[in-house]
Amino acid sequence: MSATTTLTEFEKVAPPTDGKTIAVQGGKLEVPDRPVIPYIAGDGTGPDIWKASQPVLDAAVRKAYGGRRGLAWFQVHAGESALELYPGSILPPDTLKAIRRYHVALKGPLTTPVGGGFRSLNVTLRQVLDLYACVRPVRWFQNVPSPVKDPGKVNMVVYRENTEDVYAGIEWPAGSPEAKKLAEILEREFKVKIPHPDSAIGIKPMSAFGSKRLIRKAIQYAIDRKRKSVTLMHKGNIQKYTEGAFRDWGYQLAKEEFADATISWDDVASKHGGKVPAGKVLIQDYIADVTFQHVLTRPQDFDVIATSNLNGDYVSDAIAAQVGGIGMAPGANISDFHAVFEATHGTAPKYANQDKVNPGSLTLSGVMMLDYMGWREAADMIEKAMEKTFSQKIVTYDLARLMEGAREVKTSEFATAVIDNL
Ligand code: NAP
Repeated sequence: MSATTTLTEFEKVAPPTDGKTIAVQGGKLEVPDRPVIPYIAGDGTGPDIWKASQPVLDAAVRKAYGGRRGLAWFQVHAGESALELYPGSILPPDTLKAIRRYHVALKGPLTTPVGGGFRSLNVTLRQVLDLYACVRPVRWFQNVPSPVKDPGKVNMVVYRENTEDVYAGIEWPAGSPEAKKLAEILEREFKVKIPHPDSAIGIKPMSAFGSKRLIRKAIQYAIDRKRKSVTLMHKGNIQKYTEGAFRDWGYQLAKEEFADATISWDDVASKHGGKVPAGKVLIQDYIADVTFQHVLTRPQDFDVIATSNLNGDYVSDAIAAQVGGIGMAPGANISDFHAVFEATHGTAPKYANQDKVNPGSLTLSGVMMLDYMGWREAADMIEKAMEKTFSQKIVTYDLARLMEGAREVKTSEFATAVIDNL
């Protein structure tokens, strides 16, 4: 059911009165023609890239749907910019309430003030909203400078588990009473000796529940988008019961829940002469270290990658480096229904308010958002317009310094060029 928004439920912000709520009905998102989209412009260069990305998204939606659809933006606050309106609070309840209520949000980068009580605002957002899948699509746009010979072969989507693994933050410093006590318990109860008494100790929890819900999302995405494979990336040869189990749970899930639509590499080899049958998504697995080699040397063999938290953190940046780097990499953190789309780089504070940096990461995160909402026509239109803009060699400073014959433009001018190319 799409409800009209109310003004009273927020303390210091008011949603636009002409928008409707994205609702969840029968396990699916119901997107009205004018959804309310909470956004956080962000700190540092966040407002610069927000001011450039919003008009691109609006123009594409207007053009793709002849004015029938539109986005009702609702500004909410987090990070340094929240402190003015909400003294002492860098993640005010209004902001969490808005994302919970409207389901889909877009955010710029945030500074985490040192000593503010949170290790990272982004980690906190993920934990509070249980955004368990970090999704990072990585593709190359023609003409974007790249350190590899054939970046056109890179077209991957990384699904990284977002809540478990060493990121659970269960660790104690060397010499602390907790580390000493844990070492004693391990020796006494489990006959395991920590080799050096001055060891710090960390714990790596990985569950069947957490791994399977992430892998389920990755496989479903591969099926919906007719992608050719899902690679389970793990370090199971060494960490057998955590990383190894991730792989086993993945194959098990594919068999139990997606038997008709998927096929394992073993079955391809033993029953189909090494050729994946048409219409099936291949489920394969690779050990993490060799994955890092292969995504460089034969990127065409990788499509959707499902992996644990730390592996995913490393590999998504490594792949993004092949296609233009940090100013261009979009991302999203997603739960079953809530999704926060975000620029993956930081606030780059030295360039703040200079109208200088590349807005690509935030604009492309908006493209992911439109795609997630089922507004693919508008999403495709922006990707094509950006590609055309790069082919005209109209780029911001970061790409201009790597591109011969580039016309270096400001953040806002890049956005105008993309709109002209829509
Ligand atoms: P950063 O802000 O990502 O900036 C590092 C460098 O990356 C910049 O100096 C610039 O390189 C390049 N860069 C970043 N954004 C760019 C863009 N839009 N266009 C072109 N180049 C871009 O990393 P940081 O300096 O380590 O972190 C600054 C703050 O951001 C910290 O407070 C950190 O906590 C925060 N942070 C937030 C997020 C998030 O909200 N998701 C993520 C990471 C960090 P050049 O100088 O070489 O041009």
